[in-house]
Amino acid sequence: MDLDEKDPGHRHLFHIPPAEGGGYPEVAYFAGNSLGLQPKATRTELNEDLGEWARLGVEGHLDAGRPWLPYHELLTAPAARLVGALPSEVVVMNSLTVNLHLLMVSFYRPAGKRTKIVIEDAAFPSDSYAVRSQARFHGLDPDETVVRLKPREGEDTLRVDDVVSQLTDEVALVLLGGVNYLTGELMDIPRITEAGRAVGAVVGWDLAHAAGNVPLQLHEWGADFAAWCSYKYLNSGPGALAGVFVHERHHGNPELHRFEGWWSTEPSTRFEMTATSRPPRSADAWQVSNPPIFAMGPVRTSLRIFDEVGMAALRERSLRLTTYLRGFLDQVTATRPLSVITPREPERHGCQLSVRLHEGNAGALTKRLRFEHGVIADARQPDVVRFAPVPLYSTYEDCRRAADALAKTVEENR
Ligand SMILES: *Cc1c(COP(=O)(O)O)cnc(C)c1O
Repeated sequence: MDLDEKDPGHRHLFHIPPAEGGGYPEVAYFAGNSLGLQPKATRTELNEDLGEWARLGVEGHLDAGRPWLPYHELLTAPAARLVGALPSEVVVMNSLTVNLHLLMVSFYRPAGKRTKIVIEDAAFPSDSYAVRSQARFHGLDPDETVVRLKPREGEDTLRVDDVVSQLTDEVALVLLGGVNYLTGELMDIPRITEAGRAVGAVVGWDLAHAAGNVPLQLHEWGADFAAWCSYKYLNSGPGALAGVFVHERHHGNPELHRFEGWWSTEPSTRFEMTATSRPPRSADAWQVSNPPIFAMGPVRTSLRIFDEVGMAALRERSLRLTTYLRGFLDQVTATRPLSVITPREPERHGCQLSVRLHEGNAGALTKRLRFEHGVIADARQPDVVRFAPVPLYSTYEDCRRAADALAKTVEENR
């Protein structure tokens, strides 16, 4: 029996873009790590929210079918389930880098010799810029303050022991990607969190490539904070609202600095129009502004799919798909100037496999994959092409198409 019949996933819930080349009706989509596909339910439900605005005007704040004032609360429980948190520890708001800054206002507090921020050398540029600007904001030299963890000579990914050995009593903040955007490496989040906290550092995680990709237990693992976006594996649309986790041990702590606005106060006090706030004992206290309702709808729709399917089942299908793709890539790379840089052990990767080109240029290659074969992969210049089979909607046939297209596009070693 065909693998796609036996293990079909939930492709029928999504719009799959038509192919522009390769003779297939639909693209083989491997860029869900960059922008997830649109669930069919999104348009319907977004239209319902728009309809309530047309029908009610300002009264929609309280009288809409999904009232706007507490709308964000509809997203809290499903987002908390997704990352393994208590509902009080999670809030959906803003975008990812904005949230990292709001969280660093609270959790990056350099003092004495404890000033350093540890990130990966292969950190996403936004994270690199964010931590450097935070160092500068505190009057520190970013070159001396930011420690960038590099793989060993000749290796592509980080070893957990090497990460842990860099955590000293000079480290104020550890801020790593749960899954690295470039290499696809899944970090040992519980071990690094424990090691960082043991030396007295604050440990935060950027889960842009982990949320909706791998199972997470943020509460149990004891992370101080985390943030993620919703437009990659969470399929909530370009620039979608992001998520934040703040461990309950930090709730209601009056010593923590937070930047506040009227959404930082207890909802029951919001319209008392007082001069001082009364922040709730939850992650909601990190909110600032009233949120964009029409951006919240798509996150709600998407999180429902994750609730219905379940992260454990998704992870199992993800490992089957990625292992299947890896088998083909092993054959393609054996005789061509390419290598897969993502770790092979299942506990060290999510969906994504990253291929490094030893010759040629990633951007040119992904263009050919797209226009000659209808395969959408993602180039990270100059030399990495990322393939993410997404367990909600990718197929085994997609994986065969990708490997076949890569083999035809990259010449064999002579
Ligand atoms: C995608 C991504 C971002 C993007 O930041 P935005 O604030 O959403 O624009 C930041 N960090 C990482 C690690 C990412 O993968």
